[in-house]
Amino acid sequence: MTDLIEQWVRPEIRALSAYRVPDSSGLIKLDAMENPYAWPEDLRRAWWAELFQQVEMNRYPDPAAGALSARLRQSLGVPEGAGLLLGNGSDEIIQMLALTLGGPGRVILSLEPGFVMFHMIADFTGMQYVGVPLGQEDFRLDLPAVLEAVDRHRPALLFLAYPNNPTGNLFDAEGIRAIIRAAPGLVVVDEAYAPFNDASFLPRVLDYDNLLVMRTLSKMGMAGLRLGLLAGATAWIREIDKTRLPYNINVLTQAVTELALRHRDVFDEQTARIREQRGRLFARLEQMEGIQPYPSQANFILFRAAYGRGAGIFQALRERGVLIKNLHGAHPQLADCLRVTVGTPEENDAFMEALGGAVAAAGS
Ligand code: PMP
Repeated sequence: MTDLIEQWVRPEIRALSAYRVPDSSGLIKLDAMENPYAWPEDLRRAWWAELFQQVEMNRYPDPAAGALSARLRQSLGVPEGAGLLLGNGSDEIIQMLALTLGGPGRVILSLEPGFVMFHMIADFTGMQYVGVPLGQEDFRLDLPAVLEAVDRHRPALLFLAYPNNPTGNLFDAEGIRAIIRAAPGLVVVDEAYAPFNDASFLPRVLDYDNLLVMRTLSKMGMAGLRLGLLAGATAWIREIDKTRLPYNINVLTQAVTELALRHRDVFDEQTARIREQRGRLFARLEQMEGIQPYPSQANFILFRAAYGRGAGIFQALRERGVLIKNLHGAHPQLADCLRVTVGTPEENDAFMEALGGAVAAAGS
């Protein structure tokens, strides 16, 4: 069988490692930027009623997800006249973009350290990936370096996560506008963490010929339903939509996300609590000896432990029942870096207590 695999599986796939999700059972789960709050009882009841009365499981879903699309436009403020495409999470949209603009020799460019799927999807769609480093000290946009790379590599697709994952910062908006103007191909501003800040390119997406804005409902509180969206000029959206598999948004997701967005205030209230907790968590991390947190406009905080201690602290936290993300080894600029998702006040307290113990244990 090994021979067959070597003969037939594309070399770029064999070279990849699958995206791994660690087992979190029994642990306080602060590793994946989820909203920690469950749906309130009355909303759960409405959801059950909706499923029983409206959803026909024996039928294919509405291929255009018409009711949900209309609700999303209104709820997220998609500009009048813009096209909208939905994906099974924004991960699927990144793949559709690569299928639409990819091809031999075509380049995906993004910033590093950044969201791993840009690189992975470039690899498995046979595109070339170029990662431009962020500023060494504070992960700032290095505009001259990006413009130079754009000029050199002429990317078909350029992804900017705004705010960036895993660093949590928003890049300078004027710098992003300069990149959009300089890019020969399509620029996608990925606003996955939009619920946790007040910055967005969505209202101005139609100002540029080569700009699309991507969002997701995952971080707002619906990660399990898998819904991402891409907005921008209809001419672009129409082309990308050709790569979408029919019925990619299932009936449950269509019905439940539409219902949830009718109760947007519930989720806004939850994200406001997360924003408030982010401030408190940051202040506490800043006071800890041997921990350097980076300011965040998302629902997670990246922090650096003392030299050589990151992996040990991650492991000690796990032993104390708290799962966060270990980024040590993921990128040279992330040595000894860990990323914690902002949880409920109780989860954050438990994390801080465990971190105190873990730092002490790693130092001894
Ligand atoms: N973009 C960024 C920057 C992310 O961090 C993530 C999730 N980690 C995604 C996109 C994907 O989100 P989803 O597929 O859940 O919509």
